[in-house]
Amino acid sequence: MTVAGTVVVGGGPAGLACAAALRANGRSSTVLERADNLASSWRRHYERLHLHTTKAHSALPGAPMPRNFPRYPSRLQVIDYLEAYARANDIRIQFGKSVIRISRSRSRDWIVETNDGDAIEAETVVIATGLSNVPIRPVWKGQESFKGKLLHSYEFSNAGALSANRVLVVGFGNSAGEIALECVEAGLEVCMSVRGPVNIVPLELLGVPTATIAIAQRHFPYSLVDAVNAPLLHLRYRDMERLGLQKSANGPLTNIAEKNRTPLIDIGTMAQIRAGAIRIYPRIDWSNARHVHFADGRSADFDTIILATGFRPSLETLLPDFAERFQGADRPKRGALQPGNDGLYFCGFNTTSTGLLRQIGIEAISIARSIAQR
Ligand SMILES: Cc1cc2nc3c(=O)[nH]c(=O)nc-3n(C[C@H](O)[C@H](O)[C@H](O)COP(=O)(O)OP(=O)(O)OC[C@H]3O[C@@H](n4cnc5c(N)ncnc54)[C@H](O)[C@@H]3O)c2cc1C
Repeated sequence: MTVAGTVVVGGGPAGLACAAALRANGRSSTVLERADNLASSWRRHYERLHLHTTKAHSALPGAPMPRNFPRYPSRLQVIDYLEAYARANDIRIQFGKSVIRISRSRSRDWIVETNDGDAIEAETVVIATGLSNVPIRPVWKGQESFKGKLLHSYEFSNAGALSANRVLVVGFGNSAGEIALECVEAGLEVCMSVRGPVNIVPLELLGVPTATIAIAQRHFPYSLVDAVNAPLLHLRYRDMERLGLQKSANGPLTNIAEKNRTPLIDIGTMAQIRAGAIRIYPRIDWSNARHVHFADGRSADFDTIILATGFRPSLETLLPDFAERFQGADRPKRGALQPGNDGLYFCGFNTTSTGLLRQIGIEAISIARSIAQR
């Protein structure tokens, strides 16, 4: 067993930000990453992905994104930025180290065990394994008999690679919206299956990025901000119901704060729905071979179904005391960075309208200060 001051689990933006912030506070850390390179989630994402938050509000602490990056950097630029960030902060990551268990030692330190049989004893541990750890795959009757290609959004790279004509995108989050848009632009026949009520916000309002507006409004109560923004959003998306979408009874900020549910940031998907290039269906009821039956009785044939149905943090696999620690929730309480006040920290688990990268930076600084003061 080796001994370390702080172990950071995960070499994504949150792990890097925490390691850099610890270093800025004079503390070293051991960063463990299960993949073979840093920012592995960004390497896996679909090719056309660009940030929905501006570069000014997506940088990690102490290192603005380069001037030559566009307002909304591409996935590859994010990877370049994170690699440069790790180099500049001298962050040395141990790759191929998948943490399988984090538990208390007899001396009230933490034991971090990895899949290769190693263990590290540490005074403090930062879990930075991300909200998008394990894909959520809904199951419906007859799914196993589907004769086309069935994949999750994390397995989608680009529309060309699908070799399909008729595509069904399941879900209405940001991956769903962007993948549907890409498939339309590639000339495919695209439908979306949307199971429940949704929130939609534009990428920009009068030229101002929505996330930037959310940052300006962040000190006001979320229900008040939702009420103030509602007429503008209504003006923009008042035809939602006519297009087959159910409008959520709650505003977008309320759904983020109370249900961790983020709105669709509309980068052009709604225009394609209005133009009839993307057809909306409700929840899938059952399927048989290529034929998919929806909850409203309609049905259609598809070559490919893409499950853009999100991810879950999967913290239960790491923490033996998960159930009592989070009391039925899948993550720490909103805002709690060290819920047990016991040296176990969590970075990157607070969904927010102001952008998760920005939030990660704020949390990393706060976690590093807390560790330095212990
Ligand atoms: C498609 C998509 C687009 C997004 N766009 C934006 C945006 O525009 N703006 C914004 O602010 N945010 C955005 N986000 C949200 C968020 O900023 C990113 O998900 C970001 O990568 C989160 O960083 P993270 O370090 O918390 O998690 P991740 O990037 O997922 O990194 C976690 C790391 O932990 C590793 N890991 C997991 N489990 C273990 C284990 N047991 N042992 C060791 N290592 C482990 C993983 O391999 C991974 O490298 C987006 C998210 C997604 C999914």
